[in-house]
Amino acid sequence: MASIGAVTRQIAALEISSKPNTTGSTRSGATHQKKPSQNTGNVSKLLSKFAAPHPFPANATHTKSGSSSSLASKQPSRPASPTKTTNTTTTTATLTKPKPTAAPAPAAAKATATNTTIDIGKYDGGFEIDDETRGEKVYGEAAAELALDSSVCGIRPTREWHLTDFDIGRPLGKGKFGRVYMVRTKVEPRYILALKCLYKSEIVQSRVEKQIRREIEIQQNLRHPHILRLYGYFHDEKRIFLMLEFAGRGELYKQLTKYGSFSEKRSSRYIDQMADALTYLHSKHVIHRDIKPENLLLGINGELKIGDFGWSVHAPGNRRTTLCGTLDYLPPEMVEGREHSEKVDYWALGVLTYEFICGAPPFEDLTGYNATYKRIARVDLKIPPKVSPEARDLITRLLQYDPEKRIPLNEVRRHPWIVKYRSKGPSTATPS
Ligand code: ATP
Ligand code: MG
Repeated sequence: MASIGAVTRQIAALEISSKPNTTGSTRSGATHQKKPSQNTGNVSKLLSKFAAPHPFPANATHTKSGSSSSLASKQPSRPASPTKTTNTTTTTATLTKPKPTAAPAPAAAKATATNTTIDIGKYDGGFEIDDETRGEKVYGEAAAELALDSSVCGIRPTREWHLTDFDIGRPLGKGKFGRVYMVRTKVEPRYILALKCLYKSEIVQSRVEKQIRREIEIQQNLRHPHILRLYGYFHDEKRIFLMLEFAGRGELYKQLTKYGSFSEKRSSRYIDQMADALTYLHSKHVIHRDIKPENLLLGINGELKIGDFGWSVHAPGNRRTTLCGTLDYLPPEMVEGREHSEKVDYWALGVLTYEFICGAPPFEDLTGYNATYKRIARVDLKIPPKVSPEARDLITRLLQYDPEKRIPLNEVRRHPWIVKYRSKGPSTATPS
């Protein structure tokens, strides 16, 4: 078993090498200090019907692939069939190559007529500015690893995409490896998306080629209302572009920073949505391993979207020993270097519940990493008196040292603290 000191050093190195702190985000010792992104403006005015479609209606059961949106290409749906040996397998691509003979559906035609009226904002020329100063061509194995193109991959490849296929609008933010823009496809029915650019040479410098590839492969195959959809991707010599579902209300972290903490009602609804998304992920044998507010976005109706899969693993056997994740959200089994399973995400859900309500993660210790690890390993949990008995009960049941004793996700969704605040359907909660 690795000592806490060894683990600390490993994690510290990991944090530095794989997550350069370009946005000023520091989880330990600086709660809610992340620099706000540029996701400003009247983004919230956008109507969800103009965003690229989500594959499920609000109250649908989330275990089947396929699209119900009127804007979707009509493709036969493929039943979800999780496998023990390959990556996640729901693969119905919404932005698939259109059949040349197919006439546009009336709903799609209607969308075309109005979709151009939505203001995607003014492009600041960021892609070109970056291209002059940033990135180099990559060669060899790395080039092959990063030659990512959704038109030639998977069971249902998308149509071929290029940067020239989009009208580019306002900047949404800056990621570690490039900028993110609000865009609209030139091809009908003119989907609104977030286009995220990643510089290949910077990925190679950070030695995360495999991680990025895995992130893309995992995200591409997921279909859930609380998981940010990846519609397609393409690359040129220096860059990779990801066509992401547009999260109209931006980062959840920004909200948490703004308000300090959330009401129990709002927290409960987010946790319900998270438990729903995690149930789906685990059913596909995907362990997220990096649940934290920074990785969550908000959709047009304020619904939560898991938006980052950097540390996810597709774990057919569900047992992993690799160390990863973010300090405050690490469970005891990872701190102690033991094997871990999908139950790491249960623990993180408990940490998230606490942070939403209390405004800081439960085991945060400003004196340093070691102190935090010790608190995690001892489950040194102190819940402030302001927390309701029901919320306290759920947090305590999730933050169990023994992974097997953590309350299962289906029971989380039936917990009195969740049921109490649920409004209509299981996934329609719009936090107020
Ligand atoms: P970081 O380490 O800063 O999180 P990253 O490489 O993970 O970097 P993202 O978080 O994906 O980059 O993107 C940077 C910012 O762009 C986000 O913080 C968010 O404000 C905005 N953004 C990213 N994706 C979307 C999206 N799909 N819809 C709306 N805004 C987005
Ligand atoms: Mg991010």
